[in-house]
Amino acid sequence: MTDAESGADVTALATGRRRVAVIGAGPSGLFAAQSLLAKDPELSIDIYDRLPTPYGLLRYGVAPDHTAIKRVATTLARVFEGRAVRFVGQVELGRDVTREQLRTHYDAVVYALGASRDAHLGVSGEDLAGCLSAREFVAWYEGHPDASPVVLTGVETAVVVGVGNVAIDVARILAKPVDELADTDMPDAVLDELGREPVPEVWIVGRRGPRQTAFTQVELRELVNLDGVAVTVDGHRPGELDDDDTLDRRTRAVLTALREAPERTAPEPRVRLRFLFWHRVWRLDGPGEVESVRLEATRPDTEGRLEGTEQWRDLSAQLLLRAIGYRGERLPGLPFDTVAGIIPNAEGRMTDEHGQPQPGEYVVGWIKRGAVGVIGTNKSDAAETVRHLWDDLAAGPGTGRDPRADLVAVLESAGKPVADFAAWLRIDAAERARGESQGRVRTKIATWQELAGLVAGDEDEAAKEMRRA
Ligand code: NAP
Repeated sequence: MTDAESGADVTALATGRRRVAVIGAGPSGLFAAQSLLAKDPELSIDIYDRLPTPYGLLRYGVAPDHTAIKRVATTLARVFEGRAVRFVGQVELGRDVTREQLRTHYDAVVYALGASRDAHLGVSGEDLAGCLSAREFVAWYEGHPDASPVVLTGVETAVVVGVGNVAIDVARILAKPVDELADTDMPDAVLDELGREPVPEVWIVGRRGPRQTAFTQVELRELVNLDGVAVTVDGHRPGELDDDDTLDRRTRAVLTALREAPERTAPEPRVRLRFLFWHRVWRLDGPGEVESVRLEATRPDTEGRLEGTEQWRDLSAQLLLRAIGYRGERLPGLPFDTVAGIIPNAEGRMTDEHGQPQPGEYVVGWIKRGAVGVIGTNKSDAAETVRHLWDDLAAGPGTGRDPRADLVAVLESAGKPVADFAAWLRIDAAERARGESQGRVRTKIATWQELAGLVAGDEDEAAKEMRRA
């Protein structure tokens, strides 16, 4: 994409229009771009991503069977219709571009980097095969090109640790009849693996009680109401599942769902789903692969903090998924709050570790506030950041020392293959064509090799076939 080929950018350069870089093409970055365009539809915006595909967690995080939420991508895609908006895919901050380059070439930079690291349990045996983070498991079933294959053959019991919505997502993908996943965009190899044999027993283990869960009611009900699933709820203290009008609405609804779930009868259950509260993982055992999980019963101490009771329970299990939250990643040259796992900021204005403002640099999404909230939370979050960005731009000249020089052209002339929006449209067409041939909306392409071929201009065989038809 040179200046000559990029009408949008040439216009931006010629008019001296303000230029903003958004780093991360997930929902938070795209909501930020949407907010920026609402301020000025002519603004020049480059949206970078390390992948050749936009939409971040909408594509690789929101569960494949949550198709209504996935469709938010259709709305967010309109951002790329902006006159001077470019997708700059396959370009990674820290590897292909530096913070200094961004500060030089743009009037403002918005970091929308998400939270790509997962928390650890810190117990022995966590490095055994069969102990995965939910992030790794999700990446596999979402067809992320970095994912490693997961083998479920021989898994009789899976233990999911954590009682938030990610735990629900991974448990549901394990427990759902595979024919109910067949119309999703999951890669064929994933559907084959999930379809081989069901995992007959899935535990969801919370280190605290049912009143301290982070689930939302809709997600919990969707899981416990799956066909062929029998539910047990265990480990809670007497009365802890009872309704209590001093509790908030979400917690009361979750307790109702947990009380009602075991009453549903599944005469010959395909999957037994077992909730176990007030237990934490003590260690994982097995020679090379997880064979069993030792749990310790827990209780609140007099101050309400968690303490162990030295009462043990051993589960024979072949897969452990820790769904205990995500954290942001420190990137070279950028300030980082190691305790919170975020880039330090004041309502989206980036600061250094000592609270000193970093003019012209902003944050949105999970790297701004931590890994909490649903996709829609990012809209108001981005609006707050963009409000400050806009005030700052109105008040001063911005940070760009040489914003007329096009960084994308600099990268391309250095031989860096950039995936533009047209490249994504080729990938999109190929995935749709593969899906259509199987009666599905889309089948994800999950290998770097195939993605790179499409970025380079190859036309997919299935897409060609569809065009001929
Ligand atoms: P989360 O909601 O923060 O839940 C994390 C869970 O892990 C909590 O139950 C927490 O328990 C537990 N945990 C943390 N450290 C632990 C440890 N060392 N040992 C045992 N348990 C531990 O995080 P999440 O499930 O990753 O979700 C992230 C965000 O995405 C949430 O806002 C969620 O609602 C959202 N999300 C939404 C959907 C949806 O709407 N369908 C789907 C997926 C994710 P404690 O409370 O005891 O720390």
